[in-house]
Amino acid sequence: MSHPTYKAYSLSNMKEIPQIRQFTDEQKFEMEVVGHVFPFKTNNYVVDQLINWEDVPNDPIFQLTFPQKGMLKNHHFERMSKVLRAQHTRSDIQKVANTTRWNLNPHPAGQTEYNRPMLNGVQLDGLQHKYRKTVLAFPSKGQTCHAYCTFCFRWPQFVGINELKFAMQETKPLIEYIRQHPEISDVLFTGGDPLIMNASSLAVYVNELLEANLPHLKTIRLGTKSLSFWPYRFLTDPDTRELLDLFKKIVKSGKHLALMAHFNHPRELQTEAVQEAIRRIQETGALIRTQSPLLNYINNRAEVWAEMWTEQVRLGCIPYYMFVVRDTGAQHHFGIPLIEALSIFKMAYQQVSGLARTVRGPSMSTTPGKIHLLGVQEIKGEKVFVMQFIQARNPTWTMHPFFAQYNDKANWLDGLSPAFGAKHFFFEDSSSKKSWDDL
Ligand SMILES: *Cc1c(COP(=O)(O)O)cnc(C)c1O
Ligand code: SF4
Repeated sequence: MSHPTYKAYSLSNMKEIPQIRQFTDEQKFEMEVVGHVFPFKTNNYVVDQLINWEDVPNDPIFQLTFPQKGMLKNHHFERMSKVLRAQHTRSDIQKVANTTRWNLNPHPAGQTEYNRPMLNGVQLDGLQHKYRKTVLAFPSKGQTCHAYCTFCFRWPQFVGINELKFAMQETKPLIEYIRQHPEISDVLFTGGDPLIMNASSLAVYVNELLEANLPHLKTIRLGTKSLSFWPYRFLTDPDTRELLDLFKKIVKSGKHLALMAHFNHPRELQTEAVQEAIRRIQETGALIRTQSPLLNYINNRAEVWAEMWTEQVRLGCIPYYMFVVRDTGAQHHFGIPLIEALSIFKMAYQQVSGLARTVRGPSMSTTPGKIHLLGVQEIKGEKVFVMQFIQARNPTWTMHPFFAQYNDKANWLDGLSPAFGAKHFFFEDSSSKKSWDDL
């Protein structure tokens, strides 16, 4: 197996990639236009081992990591092309970029207004607590990724719209918060990608958590795309040994270590490097659960999902969530009507063994909670969507089926209306914006 050293590509050195040099000037310019609004970064593993260049531009991994013209609406695209062609100053370009970005709903699901935990009257940075059992931690050094996904729902923090940047500098407030909230069982380190951190930085957080004596804390989760974008993180990086030892230490402490691995396409599971990385992680006693949104141009076919889940089970991973593309950034490009998402999920689910049916979806991460689309039904002559909360700001809302008017265009909750003549959904009243601990 080759052991490459990490090399990042961005707009400034993209032309070092031989295959990109073959592109027409028009194609290169389109990528530059889009890459001035959305973040773009990829690396030598993605370029050399994941992308099938014979199939570019249709190749799903190319669509996943390289800027695509359709990610910008026409008028946004035209405006950015114009400033770039006219060779305006950097600050002019920046202005157009930022105006466009603020038009793309940079903070969906009430991320900045709600779910910000308080400790002794002070708002904590770098933490989010929306669902009772699980607190999210955004460690400051983990707020980037080994490459960027074109559909990334956390894109604003990678383009420096700083108001949106969650970042936790130290572990003490997190520990104190968990101590004061005995209902919390899980802490989920997320980003970006917390495994972009070197092992010793991650160890500071983990060791303090383990030493804090928090018996109600049962699980440490790490949300990561490293298996897909840089599996050498678990194979040959200078601190790989230290990282895997840290995993073992968590398991040995009696807590569950769950890697929430982000895979969008079966191709990402096929290299020798990723399969070996999965084995190494499993040897530490950690479990790998997998999740992905359903994306136009990348994985919008049932066969792709069935293959992905089947392969994940073969590799000992547990399929966990299929998400609906969030209402931010390039949703208009990658998003899929809910009705189509349902049908893809259903056809894929029907093709796999019960061991892969641990997956739940399609699920929308909305302001009130994670909404699971269960199916379409006709009830007393009205065609409706049947849905329920998997997780909700108010935990009593979960497992309570509700109905929306059938709509073949809607791709998000805001496109749906309640069925049977109701004025609002059951969760839309004065308390809908409050979290569980305000009630
Ligand atoms: C998805 C999610 C979680 C974790 O939910 P699980 O169903 O337990 O995996 C926690 N917090 C937020 C904000 C989430 O979106
Ligand atoms: S791995 Fe997650 S945070 Fe990183 S670029 Fe992809 S979607 Fe965004």
